Amino acid sequence: MAQTKIEWTELTWNPTTGCNKVSQGCKFCYAEVMAKRLQAMGQAKYTNGFKLTLHEDTLRIPYTWKTPKIVFVNSMSDLFHERIPLEFIKRVFNVMNDNPQHVFQVLTKRADVLIKYHKQLKWTHNIWMGVSVENEDELWRVDYLRKTKAKTKFLSCEPLLGPLTKLNLRKINWVIVGGESGRKPRPMNPEWVYEIYDK
Ligand code: SF4
Repeated sequence: MAQTKIEWTELTWNPTTGCNKVSQGCKFCYAEVMAKRLQAMGQAKYTNGFKLTLHEDTLRIPYTWKTPKIVFVNSMSDLFHERIPLEFIKRVFNVMNDNPQHVFQVLTKRADVLIKYHKQLKWTHNIWMGVSVENEDELWRVDYLRKTKAKTKFLSCEPLLGPLTKLNLRKINWVIVGGESGRKPRPMNPEWVYEIYDK
C-alpha cells in the first residue's frame, strides 16, 4: 500500500502495475511517468517499468490494515486491462469481498471489459466502481457502468478535455471532476464543470 496525494482516497493498492494507452485521457498518464521513474530508481516492483505485470504477493496486503481504509485500487494500472486474466481479477475481488471494513475504489477506462466480466464478479457494498470520462467520445463507458451490478458507481471526469453536455447521471452516485496537471496541460473550460455540477 502507499500513501497518496489524490484528494478522493486515502491509500493506493496495486495488485497489477503497467498499462497502455487507450484514449485521449491517457496522453500524459501519471502512472507511466511514475513507473518509469521508479524503474530508474531500481524499485523491485517496477523492474518491468510500465509493462503490464501481475503482483500476486500484494494480494494479502488489505488483510494487514488495522483500521478501515478508503483505497484506490490500481492507481498504477487498470484492473480491467484486456491482458489481465479473469481469474486474477476474481482473486482481487475475493480480497475486496473478504474485507468489508475497507472501501475499494476501482476505476477503469476499459468499460468494455468490465461489462464482459461483471456478472462473474461478486459486488459487495464496499466496492465502488468507476469509469473515466474525459470527453463525449467516451460517454459509452457510463452506459456500460450503469449496467453493472456495482452498488456504488462513480465517474472520474479528469482530465476533463471537453464538454459533457450529453452526460446522463442516472444511477451514478458520485462524480469527480478536474483539469489536467503537468507541464503542458490541455485547457479546461470552467463552463464544462458548471454544466456537470448542474446535472
Ligand atoms: S488507462 Fe489509465 S493507467 Fe492505463 S495508460 Fe490510460 S491513464 Fe494510464
